[in-house]
Amino acid sequence: MFKRGTKLYSICTGSCPKCHKDSMYINKNPYYLSTVYKMHEYCASCGLKFKMEPSFFFGAMYVSYALGTALGVGGFIVSQYVFQLSLLGSFFTIIGILVLLMPVIMRLARNIWINFFINFEKDPSLVERPK
Ligand SMILES: [Zn+2]
Repeated sequence: MFKRGTKLYSICTGSCPKCHKDSMYINKNPYYLSTVYKMHEYCASCGLKFKMEPSFFFGAMYVSYALGTALGVGGFIVSQYVFQLSLLGSFFTIIGILVLLMPVIMRLARNIWINFFINFEKDPSLVERPK
């Protein structure tokens, strides 16, 4: 779908933003809500520390806010102009979309956030592994 080496690949698959080889998450399926935020501490392939500093992923909140707003606006436009729903119908459609996609949004936000700071490296073997 997306080529390895692009930020979109790492964002959509939740793979390590540096080597794009291993998943950052212990459970790849975000709909297991108890493990939605459970992440490996280090990448098994390149040794990147995902949580670079305490509460690093706090900033992902802003990304998830932006994603939620974008989805809400998109949902509103589609329900109003494609399905011609009433205002109340559109409202519940948006709520439904946001609730159903919440785990996906939560993870996408983290993936986008970490990709702001870390770029793909073709040969990440240069990175020193943690001891
Ligand atoms: Zn890696």
